[in-house]
Amino acid sequence: MPELPEVETLRRGLAEHLVGRRIVTVELRLPKLVAEGRLEELEGATVTGVRRRAKHLLIDTDRATLLVHLKLAGQIALRRADGASLAVGGHPVPRFDAPLPHRSTHLILGLDDGSRLYLTDIRHFARVWVLPAADAEARLAALGLGPEPLDPAFTPRVLAEALAGRRRPLKPTLLDQTRVAGLGNIYVDEALWRARLAPTLSAGDLDTERVERLHAAIRAVLHHAVTEGVAQVLDGRAAPGTSFPAVHGREGQPCPRCGEPVRKARIGGRGTYTCPSCQPVEHT
Ligand SMILES: [Zn+2]
Repeated sequence: MPELPEVETLRRGLAEHLVGRRIVTVELRLPKLVAEGRLEELEGATVTGVRRRAKHLLIDTDRATLLVHLKLAGQIALRRADGASLAVGGHPVPRFDAPLPHRSTHLILGLDDGSRLYLTDIRHFARVWVLPAADAEARLAALGLGPEPLDPAFTPRVLAEALAGRRRPLKPTLLDQTRVAGLGNIYVDEALWRARLAPTLSAGDLDTERVERLHAAIRAVLHHAVTEGVAQVLDGRAAPGTSFPAVHGREGQPCPRCGEPVRKARIGGRGTYTCPSCQPVEHT
């Protein structure tokens, strides 16, 4: 599933090329993509901003806000009239340089400079909402999303409050969008490995030093993904020849820190990758 870094990378690319453009055509190929509202409202609208909240993308216009959730396998690509890529992000299938529209392209927005925005989703779970701006805010507020981990306001104290009293293990707690927003399976594994914390530790039991370590690790992993490129993982396997992610999707490969083979287990129903040496289950 596209996580915070994938959506943030996409947001940055779209913000650069989409703001100020006018939407001239709307082609909906899969009606169930629209969870609420009418896409026709966007015809003639000018894009005023592109924002992100957790894994949600918000394309603001002078008429309405297009709220997008890519879910498991959504992908958005913005291409110039001549087909050159301006921005792309989300699930890596179809390949980012594949001919578009793809047979799983469900929405095409035509812009006034001839560029096109394609929303493609091979799994058909992605959804969009066309809402008045205030309604988009209310809808997000109703989700009770936790703090944004890349926001300056996300301090170790904020993370400590998000974890306090939680008896569940760290992994599912960090995946809970109401605790910390935007983290998914890949980046939680990476953050826990970087912080040298076992995913099975009880979330509420971390002392201040471990919370600070986890906080720094979450920030470092997300910052790395957004600035250096998102984790390359396909069908649950890290792409060969890459160093990021360090452990996710690398069962049996040596831990980059200590050389111990990376282990895979299921925690809270999710495939979880750890270094058993760097992330001991029992702490002293
Ligand atoms: Zn290790």
